[in-house]
Amino acid sequence: MRVSAGHRAVRAEFREFTDRVIAPYAEDFHRDQHTPDAVIKALADRGYLGLPIPEEFGGGGGDAVTVGLLAAELGRACSSVRSLFTVHTMVAHAIARWGSGAQRRRWLPLLATGERIGAFALSEPEVGSDAAGVTTRAVPDGRGWLLRGRKKWITYGQIADVFLVIGRTEQGPTAFLVERDTEGLTTEPITELMGIRASMTAEVRLDGCTVADENLLGRPGLGVSHIAGAALDLGRYTVAWGCLGIIDACLTASVGYAGGREQFGAPLKEHQLVRQMISRMFTDHRATELLCLDAARLRDERAPDALAATSLAKYFASTAAVRCASDAVQIHGANGCAAGYPVRRHYGDAKVMEIIEGSSQIHEVNLAEYAFQEFSPGRHRPAPTAERSGI
Ligand SMILES: Cc1cc2nc3c(=O)[nH]c(=O)nc-3n(C[C@H](O)[C@H](O)[C@H](O)COP(=O)(O)OP(=O)(O)OC[C@H]3O[C@@H](n4cnc5c(N)ncnc54)[C@H](O)[C@@H]3O)c2cc1C
Repeated sequence: MRVSAGHRAVRAEFREFTDRVIAPYAEDFHRDQHTPDAVIKALADRGYLGLPIPEEFGGGGGDAVTVGLLAAELGRACSSVRSLFTVHTMVAHAIARWGSGAQRRRWLPLLATGERIGAFALSEPEVGSDAAGVTTRAVPDGRGWLLRGRKKWITYGQIADVFLVIGRTEQGPTAFLVERDTEGLTTEPITELMGIRASMTAEVRLDGCTVADENLLGRPGLGVSHIAGAALDLGRYTVAWGCLGIIDACLTASVGYAGGREQFGAPLKEHQLVRQMISRMFTDHRATELLCLDAARLRDERAPDALAATSLAKYFASTAAVRCASDAVQIHGANGCAAGYPVRRHYGDAKVMEIIEGSSQIHEVNLAEYAFQEFSPGRHRPAPTAERSGI
């Protein structure tokens, strides 16, 4: 990977951890639809759950490449565990970006150490891509805000301690931090998903929950445009890198399998159409890596086009992960459809990546806008440089 020696060392540390603590058990997590507490504690003890949180609040203050490398290594081992890292850090990032001083001081140290687990609750049974249409109501009740509504598909909603809930006030979509022990909040597990099956997903019911003013995040009306927007931007970034991890795992498994199994008197890897699939996966791996690194560099520079680069990386990475996981199953033949061969799990996980954090179609709609701006006739485009391409 085209990163500095320091980043390579940090990646080796992440890989040692995921190879020891997560990868050997990921099939069990998938089968049991459960992430063991011990795994979450191990992540927390290593400081990984707080990696992107600023150091002044007890986090790791990791730069964008470091955060990406952790997401990639988690994704290579188990996309469910990577999704815990994603949603937890989305909540922390929204608080770091938009929270008051008191909210940052209260929540960020708890999230950084993993003493509290965060979940992101935007989607509803009837509201998905059109996030601004949330129907969960939030009305002032004299003691704070009274919330009523349903949130669906909430990753790690079965165990989260605090939910970043987007509700609707008179001013429009508004963000609240709702604690699990709030009266009126209940969760119902959602099981038998096709992917990230260990992500302990839940429906969250808010049946008249009173939330104090101090748990209102940002200003009323800014819940989707600013607060969820910031959270989703980081979510897309870690999902993109997580997809790089899926592709890495699929390529490694496929190269190994194609070298070991013979058909027609020759190893699979000698058959040209199998080689074609490997070549395409190899290309997708490299292209995904470069797009993720490009997004990383722009994020660290706080460049205006970091948002577009992140959307591009997520879009490409998730579609590439689906292609690669599909070809990995193909190369494994019937074994690829069977329990015990992780490519089966990666296939379902990859498909979910095309739906969450903005579906592929939503990214296509938005990316076209960027293309119209960047390629409008007469507009000067800087020539690509080695730095720009991450090399
Ligand atoms: C495993 C899993 C975990 C999830 N975790 C979370 C979570 O933690 N928190 C959370 O809030 N949500 C979560 N979600 C929900 C996820 O964010 C939504 O599924 C996603 O936003 C898409 O919404 P939808 O499923 O309602 O699809 P819809 O919005 O109903 O879209 C259906 C299809 O129509 C397409 N479509 C929609 N609008 C357009 C358009 N304008 N142009 C072209 N095509 C369009 C979509 O791309 C999609 O293919 C999760 C979902 C899954 C599957």
